[in-house]
Amino acid sequence: MADPNRAPVAAVCAADAYLAGDPAFSGDRERLVAAIEHNLTSDAEPVDPSKHIDLTQKALGRLSPDCRGLLRLAGVDGVRPEDARLRLGSRSTSTVFYRRAVCLRRVKAYLVERLQGLDAGLRCLDPELGGNLWRLKDPATDASLCRRFEHHLAACPSCRQQQGVETTVMAGLSDGSLRLGPAIRSRVRAFRALAIGGAGALAAGLVLVAVLPSGALPPRIIGIMGAVAMVAGGYLVRRCSGLESAFDKAL
Ligand SMILES: [Zn+2]
Repeated sequence: MADPNRAPVAAVCAADAYLAGDPAFSGDRERLVAAIEHNLTSDAEPVDPSKHIDLTQKALGRLSPDCRGLLRLAGVDGVRPEDARLRLGSRSTSTVFYRRAVCLRRVKAYLVERLQGLDAGLRCLDPELGGNLWRLKDPATDASLCRRFEHHLAACPSCRQQQGVETTVMAGLSDGSLRLGPAIRSRVRAFRALAIGGAGALAAGLVLVAVLPSGALPPRIIGIMGAVAMVAGGYLVRRCSGLESAFDKAL
């Protein structure tokens, strides 16, 4: 941990500016100064995923089936958070936002690791707050907390980098320039549905297979069930008001 008394003046001043804009800050001031100093002196440029689409695509390909399913709901199928909650069986829409943010953080971590190496990336100024930045998009988030998040986002290059990754991924999935790979999750769900309540469909499929001429392809039961599960909707993004960017000037 850096000694704030010996840290460069610019880092100390920037830390004071940050604290002035976030009276509710409850983190470690020394760690804040150290993070700012690290970011000011680091050679690492913020990773811009739009310039690394191939690598972003690789990162998506390494996500778990659960993550791909979550991102597919919002990014590809356009399912609203409330509908996604129902489909995922989550207790609240906040859980949907949180789980999606965890998946998108893995995309950013992969990009940073591949482009800059471990521990070389930018540091979050307030990890406790930055780790909950997903709440900024959650309509259930209190307005005063929203203002803290926006102040943090304006000041924290690490979190702005995370937001850039999220924006690029969701936009890429929406316009088709990024893909989530095979619908593994959908197949798992389809098989589960068949096992639990789809005895009739299974029987029908077996009959259909039985009547097909020798050498014909079997019916694509999985694809049909996946299509039935699709529900149209919109992707909700909420922006808070009152963005303060005084900290940018301090940096
Ligand atoms: Zn941050």
